[in-house]
Amino acid sequence: MNIRALPDSPGSMSSMPASLPPSLSELVVERVGFGIFVLDRDMNVLMWNRFMQDHSGVAAADVIGHSVFERFPDLPRAWLARKVESVFQLGSFAFSSWEQRPYLFRFDHDRPITGGVDYMQQDCTFMPLMRDREVIAVCVTVSDVTHVSVMQREREDAVARLREYADRDGLTGIANRRYFEGRLADEFARWQRYGGDISVLLFDLDHFKKINDEFGHVAGDTVLRAMAQRVAQVVRKQDVFGRFGGEEFALLLPCTPLDDALHVAEKIRRTIGDAPVQVQGVVVPVTASVGAAAARPGATGYEAMINEADAALYSAKRQGRNRSVALFHEIF
Ligand code: GH3
Ligand code: MG
Ligand code: MG
Repeated sequence: MNIRALPDSPGSMSSMPASLPPSLSELVVERVGFGIFVLDRDMNVLMWNRFMQDHSGVAAADVIGHSVFERFPDLPRAWLARKVESVFQLGSFAFSSWEQRPYLFRFDHDRPITGGVDYMQQDCTFMPLMRDREVIAVCVTVSDVTHVSVMQREREDAVARLREYADRDGLTGIANRRYFEGRLADEFARWQRYGGDISVLLFDLDHFKKINDEFGHVAGDTVLRAMAQRVAQVVRKQDVFGRFGGEEFALLLPCTPLDDALHVAEKIRRTIGDAPVQVQGVVVPVTASVGAAAARPGATGYEAMINEADAALYSAKRQGRNRSVALFHEIF
């Protein structure tokens, strides 16, 4: 280990004759699996262990006696100087976690690139070295915590993926009913507070049982997926499109009065019905009926709007299907 004598340190290890074998503590500092180096108040390096040497590529002999910034100009100069100075002044430990500052030194890590981490992630401890109640130097330890940060990142990715799955319908990939109703509740609350317009459409594929019976359940699933994709392509970004039940879908239209909602309803009805779906070479004609409703002044919950859209949908079915209906409104 390389140690530079402190100016007033008669007992320091470097004052020992060079021929003496290293002490146990020197061997430990040299071998330990984290970086240890010591700085004086002017940020000059007094000690530099093997870990620091191996990972920085700068030998102890080339850094000891020099300002740490001279050898490592990339270091966060103001931050590090402030940190060290605070330890000199207060005489207490200071820390830096990879979560606040991912690394102090730009060291390579030994993880595969897939970890998504650029450099070795580091936790640092700043330890006052005291003599006669006076801080004579600051010892900095640097721990490689790349594995922790990679694990944390993987955990965050997994949680984000789970959250995404929890909001999606497994068959079609669009929003599921739970997510749809959550967004509807939010938009409805916003409408109650700020006013404006809000509409919903409920649409249901016509005679879908027949499609299943004639072409099989797997073909039925393919039709559901194809329809969801077609509709998803024509809805606006601010609208919420979800699967409400078996072959029933819902579309939330914020800032949309009923008249406009009926135009959207017709667009969707045509998107579904204008071209049949090809399933394994078989042409499957599909149509849908749509019910539309808007929030009415004084409404106390979004459920009334859904019920009204459902009643309109039922009316569209009774009137012969493949049409859009809003109660108290002209029929398309
Ligand atoms: P209507 O025009 O009155 O809506 O007639 P319909 O046959 O579409 O209506 P109904 O609601 O009676 O039947 C819906 C059918 O949709 C029954 C069910 O087997 C089928 N279904 C529901 N979910 C799925 C699904 O995930 N995949 C498939 N393939 N079929 C489904
Ligand atoms: Mg149906
Ligand atoms: Mg149905």
